[in-house]
Amino acid sequence: MRKLYFVLSVDTEEEWDWDGPFPDQVISVENVNHLPVFQKQLDDLGLKPSYFLDYAVLEKPRSRNILADLYQANPGIEFGSHLHPWVTPPIVPVRSEADSHIVNLPIDIVSEQLRRLTQTIQNLTGRQPTAFRSGRWGINDDILGALAAQGYLVDSSIYPFYENPWFSCADFDSWPMAWSHLGTSPELIELPVTAGFNHRPFARAQRMHKTLERPAWAQFHIIGALWALALHRKIYLSPELSSTRDMIALCKQMLQIECPVIHMYLHSSSLLPGSTRYVRSDYDKNRLMRRIESVVRFLRRECDVEAVTITDGALKLREDGALKRKAMQLANFQTFDLGRSSESLLVYRDR
Ligand SMILES: [Zn+2]
Repeated sequence: MRKLYFVLSVDTEEEWDWDGPFPDQVISVENVNHLPVFQKQLDDLGLKPSYFLDYAVLEKPRSRNILADLYQANPGIEFGSHLHPWVTPPIVPVRSEADSHIVNLPIDIVSEQLRRLTQTIQNLTGRQPTAFRSGRWGINDDILGALAAQGYLVDSSIYPFYENPWFSCADFDSWPMAWSHLGTSPELIELPVTAGFNHRPFARAQRMHKTLERPAWAQFHIIGALWALALHRKIYLSPELSSTRDMIALCKQMLQIECPVIHMYLHSSSLLPGSTRYVRSDYDKNRLMRRIESVVRFLRRECDVEAVTITDGALKLREDGALKRKAMQLANFQTFDLGRSSESLLVYRDR
């Protein structure tokens, strides 16, 4: 049976209505109370989750204590860093969606936020965190350089086949890779979440998807029609976004291209029904868990699955010689002159 690594990562962060403003004033992290039960369920499934912690959950004493206990009680899990710039000191005021993406912020601010977040996690666990994911996805060379300089080994900020006005991951797939162009030693490894389509080749499916998204075509709602007919579906391996059937369809494609790792992700806030658009009720929350279980069961039927944390998985993939080597290809689709130096943007609001 072929070998397959399975990574489950959890963005562990404050609750917020993703359709509303960024929660930089009233911050609730009640969802963290639900992590111990969730961890027990994952442990029963034999999984080794990686929790990407943001500053908000580390700052509040109650959630910090829960996380400290969780880490002590579960030596197999990993705590990585998740940078939400609107809650991490030195805090920048988020005046627009552009500000919420760290790729748009001056690198000296991002570096300092990363340093503070890293130190706070290290204070909690006694260990340097080695895996990183940006808030709301997106990465660039400067941030990768800061990660390497601050002792990180793995990034997971690429959101494959996705683009927005501020960054593009449209030409990236889910295959793990080494950022060889940075020249760092060791090379920083990218281990993206699993994403793709229900048909291959993915590059062709993505070209078609991008064409149909253009305004000239979008008016005909072809993507929606093809989705309804299950002829063309872009699928992300998250139990929040995707049904069991779609996730298994994606996994089948990934196994056919012999991708050596499957990486599922979700947000901790989905553990508190009503705090994200994905989980409105206890029924939805139970469904979330059933979806995780079903995908893991499917993979175990097909492969010899080894559940790993993200850093452990990335290092094993390197050892196995399974990493692609890639130079940075992130394109800025719009050039933003934000018109700000770090001095004008910086507002120290340490709490
Ligand atoms: Zn986040």
